[in-house]
Amino acid sequence: MKLITSLLAAAAMSVAAFAAPVFAQDKGTVGISMPTKTSTRWISDGETMEKLFKEAGYTPDLQFADDDIPNQLAQIENMVTKGAKVLVIAAIDGTTLSDILQKAADAGVKVIAYDRLIRDSGNVNYYATFDNFQVGVLQATSLVQGLKLDSASGPKNVELFGGSPDDNNAFFFYDGAMSVLQPLIDSGKIVVKSGQTGMDQVGTLRWDGAVAQARMENLLSSTYTDAKVDGVLSPYDGLSIGIISALKGVGYGSGDMPMPVVTGQDAELPSVKSILADEQYSTVFKDTRELAKVTVGMVNSIMDGKEPEVNDTKTYENGVKVVPSYLLKPVSVDKTNAKDILVGSGYYTEDQINN
Ligand code: BGC
Repeated sequence: MKLITSLLAAAAMSVAAFAAPVFAQDKGTVGISMPTKTSTRWISDGETMEKLFKEAGYTPDLQFADDDIPNQLAQIENMVTKGAKVLVIAAIDGTTLSDILQKAADAGVKVIAYDRLIRDSGNVNYYATFDNFQVGVLQATSLVQGLKLDSASGPKNVELFGGSPDDNNAFFFYDGAMSVLQPLIDSGKIVVKSGQTGMDQVGTLRWDGAVAQARMENLLSSTYTDAKVDGVLSPYDGLSIGIISALKGVGYGSGDMPMPVVTGQDAELPSVKSILADEQYSTVFKDTRELAKVTVGMVNSIMDGKEPEVNDTKTYENGVKVVPSYLLKPVSVDKTNAKDILVGSGYYTEDQINN
């Protein structure tokens, strides 16, 4: 009896030993560090990656840092300590990660900068993002279109807003936009009446909508008491909402004060609704599902010892190295194509944007 029991036990063990690798799904932990939950795009980025990494056999460790830099550093440190194989990071401040990424590199952890470039570190292996300069070009092109500058005679008054100066993307968006707007400013077709230009004057720390609203209120009371603002370059939907609120506060959007042309980015639901309601003029859609897919593909290649596919090896110099990048295409969205693009791609349902 004893013999049979031990034979059975041995057989069970060898089945387990044989079976284990066949069923072993866990390819290791991937730390996903997202900056904040205040903007839905980051929730969608994080959750899509979480799902795709699980499907690919990894254990995702998804953390959101509440736009608090020490919090993000602590979360990443914890991921490294717990043995993550790869880190996917959308930095709050792209210049603050050098020390923790040195620790990660010493532990053999690979790093992918997600959407936002990580600066001042050689320990960034790849960068997955959108064509950020093109985002700015699309924003300014749509602003010019909304202002009907090709047919309109008089100069148009435009104010400029930039993103967070600690986010490398903010400079790309601004430079892309100015590549379209500067010639029109030089020729007098566009007037920045406040005189505030350049990222040091128009940047919005932490992409904070309340900060943008306060600045727009100041601009309106300092510069537009006897002139009208015709357009506002806004780099992100969360800022556009604040800007539109300031504009409405002094009567724009009713009577003889048409709503100025206000741009945006991310196709966030409140802004899509605002576009359909003729308030915000446009946004830039960046399909976060695609970015998540590219990133998971990069991690798979790294783990298989292969080179991930990149399509840009020149643009993203981070102060130490040029980070090999994969750039996706952003798409301009306004009232004429919002449904086609956003519902058509399954990003939103018809119900979501109508209710
Ligand atoms: C992203 C934008 C986003 C902004 C604010 C940028 O780094 O590229 O999509 O609007 O951060 O969250």
